[in-house]
Amino acid sequence: MNKHIVIIGGGLSGLIIAHSLKEQGYSSIKVVEASSRLGGRIYTKKIGRADIELGATWLWKYNTQLISICKELEIELFEQKMEGDALFEAISMNPVQRFQLPPNQEISYRIANGTNKLINKLSNKLGEEIIHLNKKVIEIKYDNTFLIKTSQNMFKGDVVITTIPPKLLVNSVQFIPELAQNLQEIAKKTHTWMQDSIKFSVVFKSPFWRKQGLSGVAFSNVGPYTELYDHCCVTDSGYALMGFITNSLSSLNKEQREQAILQQLTKFFGDVSSEFISYEEKVWKKESLLTVNDGSFIIPHQNNGHPLFHKSLYDGKLIISGSETSPEYGGYMEGAVRSAYYAIEKIKNI
Ligand SMILES: Cc1cc2nc3c(=O)[nH]c(=O)nc-3n(C[C@H](O)[C@H](O)[C@H](O)COP(=O)(O)OP(=O)(O)OC[C@H]3O[C@@H](n4cnc5c(N)ncnc54)[C@H](O)[C@@H]3O)c2cc1C
Repeated sequence: MNKHIVIIGGGLSGLIIAHSLKEQGYSSIKVVEASSRLGGRIYTKKIGRADIELGATWLWKYNTQLISICKELEIELFEQKMEGDALFEAISMNPVQRFQLPPNQEISYRIANGTNKLINKLSNKLGEEIIHLNKKVIEIKYDNTFLIKTSQNMFKGDVVITTIPPKLLVNSVQFIPELAQNLQEIAKKTHTWMQDSIKFSVVFKSPFWRKQGLSGVAFSNVGPYTELYDHCCVTDSGYALMGFITNSLSSLNKEQREQAILQQLTKFFGDVSSEFISYEEKVWKKESLLTVNDGSFIIPHQNNGHPLFHKSLYDGKLIISGSETSPEYGGYMEGAVRSAYYAIEKIKNI
């Protein structure tokens, strides 16, 4: 319980590990996060009453560990709105088609007041002395204990748990002595979920699509958006649509993407300008704390949960965690929670 534990990364995995260890009575825990904010791939922006999810949004009933954390933290879930017809654009020359959505086979849930609620509740339980923001880890040196060098300072640790996505980890942190070659090779070929995504949301004065009997769900083969969903808040008082933009638009600037999206929305729903409040987006491909763009092609979920991530490293005192290391639901929030529980089990055995 007196071991100095350093957790690298303040995303969902890192915060759950820290929270759980604190509850168990560990007295020296540090979460070292490179960014100025916690959450990693969980990123909710509040625009008026709308909770805009620019990162993780949905969970499903089989996400049992995540649901149980939400229950423990008294976090409310609500169903993704899907009532009404959907729209589909097959080719640019043809008008947009309207169709009836089939009954929902698999209900998606959202977190009331935004997924960030989860991050805020966990970090409030940890307190300021545990969390160290703006500290990018650049080197991890092991000689019976660890010296962790960041862009700003040094940390000492008996145990280190990294939650940096594996591909980024081996491309951005220097290990002394070096990590095993086969582990480095696998990590370099491990997919990081949503690494190339561009997510956007448009906030409106009213849910005008409902007046047309539409659900807000739309698909397009043409783009710039490929998928679109109703994104109103839990109390249905902040109104928005949210979707994903095709990767080919990543070279444009925000204003150009905004214009292209508003044009496409007008094609789908008619003139939306009188309802417009704001356009929000996040280009994850350009997020240096998520991935490295080395041009290599990795298929979605490739090597997620690979057994090499679970091998004993540096006398069992270095633990590689984070969603992509989970053999179940790797890449998703559920994977992040499960990887955290694997890490906690390993610490007990050190
Ligand atoms: C656009 C998008 C949509 C998504 N939608 C869903 C969804 O609907 N449902 C779902 O279940 N999942 C979704 N996900 C995936 C989900 O967000 C992730 O699985 C989960 O948040 C991963 O948590 P993590 O803690 O393992 O990793 P991360 O959130 O990536 O956290 C890693 C942390 O490490 C930090 N870090 C990186 N390098 C360093 C360094 N050198 N030193 C210190 N800190 C460092 C990062 O800043 C980050 O905070 C989505 C992700 C994105 C991007």
